[in-house]
Amino acid sequence: MKAVIVVCDGMGDRPSRILKGLTPLQAAEAEVFNEIARLGECGIIDVISPGQPPGSDTAHLALFGYDPHIYYSGRGAYEALGAGVDLKNGDVAFRCNFATVNQEGVVVDRRAGRISTEEARILAEALKDIKLEDAETIFLSTVEHRGVLVLRGEKLSRMVSDVDTHELGVKIPEPRPLEDSEEARRTARILKEFIEKARKILEEHPLNIERASRGLKPANIILPRGAGTLPNIKPIGEMWNIKAAAIAGGALYKGVAKALGFDIINVPGATGTVNTNLKGKVEYTINALKNYDLVFLHIKATDTVSHDKDPLKKKEVIEWISRELHPLLEIVREKEYYLVLTADHTTPSEIGDHRGDPVPLAIMGPAVRRDWVERYDELACARGGLGRIRGIDLMRILMNYMDKVPLFGE
Ligand code: ZN
Ligand code: ZN
Repeated sequence: MKAVIVVCDGMGDRPSRILKGLTPLQAAEAEVFNEIARLGECGIIDVISPGQPPGSDTAHLALFGYDPHIYYSGRGAYEALGAGVDLKNGDVAFRCNFATVNQEGVVVDRRAGRISTEEARILAEALKDIKLEDAETIFLSTVEHRGVLVLRGEKLSRMVSDVDTHELGVKIPEPRPLEDSEEARRTARILKEFIEKARKILEEHPLNIERASRGLKPANIILPRGAGTLPNIKPIGEMWNIKAAAIAGGALYKGVAKALGFDIINVPGATGTVNTNLKGKVEYTINALKNYDLVFLHIKATDTVSHDKDPLKKKEVIEWISRELHPLLEIVREKEYYLVLTADHTTPSEIGDHRGDPVPLAIMGPAVRRDWVERYDELACARGGLGRIRGIDLMRILMNYMDKVPLFGE
């Protein structure tokens, strides 16, 4: 018995004026999605709890059965894992921006004049030589102005404040300990030392001097935020006695999956954007089902267009994903696998941010009780046989169908 879980990021939505009061899912002609709903058992999910807007990181922990209130240990670790850092227990990781500050340390541009991935890579290289007294550092640039910083050493803590205030025109704050512990104070001090040393190197870097001479903003500071450590969990494979693999474009999702014990399968051209190689991702998913019991396929585009506040585009993206899933649906049907289609949160495309409304769910497979739901959308699924469930119950429901849940009692 095998299963595939397809998560369309931020796919849940609210009625939209431009779609005449329908949600993008309701407005979409998504034949494959509807077929999955028709063949399956449907419901809606409060991914964290009713009304609680989830981040993508906590949402995925919940969907894979790990209560984020217990296991969430900051975003930085997922970003670092997703960027390919071999993160160890005790490391503290941060997401970072290359940014621009003026002489007084006031933030002028949080993205350093939209510095290119290639330029950021050259600058990141120069930060490799930074030596700190009390910790090793790993700094990697990822996409455009983004990067990750890892502090490795004794007695570090993730309880340190963000240096990035998300605001322009304010002086960058010093990292502060967020609890009264030696570890937090020590980590704040180490982080401050790194930022200062990095600033000095960046200010003097030929690439920045050259940028300034062209009238471009120099990337003269690193702004770390989202301190995180590896979550202390039992890997998903051990949890259910399965082999699990994940396919995702975005680094965060690869990182979360890796932290939870999924094998990561990289797909050429999978970018985590609207221009991703979705065909390739679906092909690789089908292939992975030969060797794995559970394959997680993450698709980011639905969330991206929601943040862009584009309900019409979201409807089109949904239709595109639905079409591209056709070969997967065929295989799942033929081989009698299970297929879960859901979202990690609602991102209303008129608002452009995450909200706590439940998301639609459909599970198809040989043993599910087919209900009467004929369409895959937020309201149609609410009438389905699974009713309204919590995110952390999804894995057990799926594993029960796959005969992986041990008996409780005699
Ligand atoms: Zn998300
Ligand atoms: Zn989002």
